[in-house]
Amino acid sequence: MKSVYRNVLGVLSLGIILSFSPGNLSPTSLAQDPCQKIIDAIASLEERVLGLEDELRDASGVEITVLRSRIKTLKQRIKKEQEVLDRCIKDHSPMVAGSEDEIRLLNKIGSDQATVLVDGRRDTGCSNDEVFSGRFTLLVGNILSNQGCIPEVAVFAQNNAMQIVSPLNVWTNQNTDRLDVRMADRVRVPLVVWVLQGPFTMVQDQVNADVARANQLFGTMQAGVQVVPVTINNATANPNAESLLNSGCISIDSLKTKIGFTPKQINAYYIETALFQRGGFCPGTSIILIGATVSDNESLAHEIGHAFSLGHTAEIPGIPQTNLMASGGINRDSITTGQCFRINVNSTSVINVNGNRTATTRDCPDDAISNLCPSLALDVQPK
Ligand SMILES: [Zn+2]
Repeated sequence: MKSVYRNVLGVLSLGIILSFSPGNLSPTSLAQDPCQKIIDAIASLEERVLGLEDELRDASGVEITVLRSRIKTLKQRIKKEQEVLDRCIKDHSPMVAGSEDEIRLLNKIGSDQATVLVDGRRDTGCSNDEVFSGRFTLLVGNILSNQGCIPEVAVFAQNNAMQIVSPLNVWTNQNTDRLDVRMADRVRVPLVVWVLQGPFTMVQDQVNADVARANQLFGTMQAGVQVVPVTINNATANPNAESLLNSGCISIDSLKTKIGFTPKQINAYYIETALFQRGGFCPGTSIILIGATVSDNESLAHEIGHAFSLGHTAEIPGIPQTNLMASGGINRDSITTGQCFRINVNSTSVINVNGNRTATTRDCPDDAISNLCPSLALDVQPK
């Protein structure tokens, strides 16, 4: 079935951003929204975090520590406001319930528009990957009792782990059913970096900027993951470094034994070139090579995308040239919802292989389109 998506951007009423009948939101209902002030407060705190994260990308030295600590404090405040908002939404839910089934996002961090994919039975039959967007409460029309269809709900939001609810048995033929989806913190993906290419402080700044860019992309694109640099090791003085400066995946055993390797984490080696390429991911491992002298700000995120099970997107219709997984691309700035789904659920994604994520897995190759696997090109803009 075709995706149903209506963009009602800018409507800020208890997060009822999209429903089959968005026209019922009058200015009066906006003014009366009892939770609006809290939503506004969270949005303004988030804007400040984004500003600081932008600064962080160009920061160096002690500045990084200061900025990180300010971001942390702001995030704690956002979390507190979020709890207040959750209570507010719960207290006032009866005001919005009634004529449509409803999906409530509880414990959601942030006031961004979550993207929600819904499979369920409609009066026209089983429907697949209907798309809804909303902040906290989504009206989804009348989803009928299962009767041979396999209902499922997948939720993507900027600062939350992707949630997949399947199977589920809440839908009846009534139009007053409600599904509560409990959101959780993003999946943390530990990254250890080995810097072979010098000068170290310069490449270290590059690593920090690459990690910040990766998190900006995975964050804003609602991938639900956060790359956490555990250590950035200075291997420039290692006597074996020079002979490994232009390595490919054929050299991974040498890199592991002569430079270093931490199991159960992504290991990224910043070398001179990755056999004249900007970067490489070594399949079946958690190893990434970055050619520090030729890579761009998205090379690390791109290789991590491979580690998350994604392939190149050049051959796939409907995906822009600026997708993160465009090979050799420049200004790569987007990740589709179909890719975010695979990053999380594919059993070969490093977050499942390394046990960073423990929820249900499945196998959705890039070209799969089925009840279980949304199209890779399925996307929702703006996020
Ligand atoms: Zn690639």
